[in-house]
Amino acid sequence: MENCLFCKIIKGEVGCEKVYENEYILAFKDIHPVAPVHILIIPKLHISSMNDITYENSEYIKQVYIAIREVVRISCIYESGYRVICNCGEDGGQVVAHLHFHLLGGKHLGSKIVHE
Ligand code: AMP
Ligand code: ZN
Repeated sequence: MENCLFCKIIKGEVGCEKVYENEYILAFKDIHPVAPVHILIIPKLHISSMNDITYENSEYIKQVYIAIREVVRISCIYESGYRVICNCGEDGGQVVAHLHFHLLGGKHLGSKIVHE
């Protein structure tokens, strides 16, 4: 995907503050953090959104969730807790069209999921 920002980060064409990486995923700090820990976990395969997850690419999704545990340990929020968010489409607030999971923690996030 030529014009995809996150594909460019995966290829090293755009820099990032890397937290963890393996064959399937890359985890890096969000450029505009909304919590003390705000890390994006992305598959190293261009999947545009949650709507595009299929049986064929599901290995990457499995690897994202396995990697989240690693990133959580690295970030020292295993005990204190955290939230994982995946925005999809316009109403979901998705801005970057490469599937990504926001890992938020390092403070009490409260129980509200949506602002009224
Ligand atoms: P979303 O609204 O779910 O599509 O989230 C996209 C996220 O990507 C936002 O939280 C941005 O702050 C973050 N972001 C955009 N560009 C970069 C970048 N170059 N490096 C790190 N995070 C970025
Ligand atoms: Zn991409």
